[in-house]
Amino acid sequence: MTRDDALALDAADPLAPLREQFSLPPGLIYLDGNSLGVLPRATAARVQQAVTQEWGEGLIRSWNGAGWIDLPQRLGDKIARLVGAGPGELVVADSTSVNLYKVLAAALAMVRADAPQRRVILSERSNFPTDLYIAQALAQAQGCELQLAEPEELPALLGASTAVLMLTHVNYRTGRMHDMAALSAAAHAAGALVVWDLAHSAGAVPVALKQDGADFAVGCGYKYLNGGPGAPAFVWVHPQHASRFWQPLAGWMGHAAPFAFTPGYQPAPGIARYLCGTPPVLSMVALDCGLDTVLAAEPLGGMAALRAKSLALTRLFAERVEATCPQLQRVSPREDALRGSQVCFSHPEIAYPVVQALIARGVIGDFRAGDPSHPAGAVDVLRFGFTPLYLRHVDAWDAAEHLREVLASGEWQRPEFNQRHAVT
Ligand SMILES: *Cc1c(COP(=O)(O)O)cnc(C)c1O
Repeated sequence: MTRDDALALDAADPLAPLREQFSLPPGLIYLDGNSLGVLPRATAARVQQAVTQEWGEGLIRSWNGAGWIDLPQRLGDKIARLVGAGPGELVVADSTSVNLYKVLAAALAMVRADAPQRRVILSERSNFPTDLYIAQALAQAQGCELQLAEPEELPALLGASTAVLMLTHVNYRTGRMHDMAALSAAAHAAGALVVWDLAHSAGAVPVALKQDGADFAVGCGYKYLNGGPGAPAFVWVHPQHASRFWQPLAGWMGHAAPFAFTPGYQPAPGIARYLCGTPPVLSMVALDCGLDTVLAAEPLGGMAALRAKSLALTRLFAERVEATCPQLQRVSPREDALRGSQVCFSHPEIAYPVVQALIARGVIGDFRAGDPSHPAGAVDVLRFGFTPLYLRHVDAWDAAEHLREVLASGEWQRPEFNQRHAVT
């Protein structure tokens, strides 16, 4: 494969026009859409309209007049189309961390109502820290226990004491993707429920929540859904569970009649009870623009077409890096079926300054620190996310070439690249 081959792939790419939806700084190769998606062109004007007209002129009338009050459901229905859920089953609210707390608490309550001896939340040792922190605190408060394991150990650990299997579908460090159908079935066979975090899946890989037997799911609005910094997150509960049990954050927006102002809590039927407080309208309209950039792929083959391009991009980049940067160790799986939309490489010493030197060249990836207490995740990684909506094959080619040059030239040694910032 040559750079000209990459250019030819772009010329023949039916998804190429989707890049026009984004306001990308010229010359930048952005490989961090798995951390913060790119700004859609439509967002600034839409937020401006929400501020000056809907808020400025409509004022409180806009809750009805501009449909603000329905935003959690309306955006939820758009996300449902991307993750294999039905209309009316998913809402946008709060953060991923908060939504995880709600569904994990509900799942524990459901299982333990019939089987109080089940007191284990089982998860992956290298799951995203906030997921583990939330589970740890909840387990402690309820006299339960969080058990951590490596991915291949999970099926054998599901048993008579397991209440909930809580997993992130695509691992934030390694990019390894779990088999949702197989693990959901294994959890159910053991008598447990399963919670999936789709932070690195929604808008990145095809997800079939209902078909694959998920019970609960949460996910993130600011990564592959391009909702903007701190965009609200989403929560889905299988319709067979949604009207059973309360989630613990019994706020008024989850009440059956929020504007009846009655003193007693009556949860709304269905997924609406997973709402808590007032929706952040300005953030919601920004997220709406981000969702439209992903849904714009529907007439071009939707998530299946995005997935095919994402795999081509990660394959191209990883193969080039492996061929030209022998100093780096590949972390992400080689098998397409096991890989999300990102590629990571590890280096025991210089991962951080190499990423900084790449950023100075206009190639934005990120760095994730290793955890010495964790055998499979002890080493620092360079992480590169590929968003097929706005990345070209030639970007993958050029990024690999920049990485080769940074390593070969030794420019990563410059002192400014070795100074740690607060956000990595
Ligand atoms: C990004 C991410 C989060 C983020 O949670 P916030 O509450 O939005 O900070 C949670 N879980 C996983 C797996 C993530 O990748």
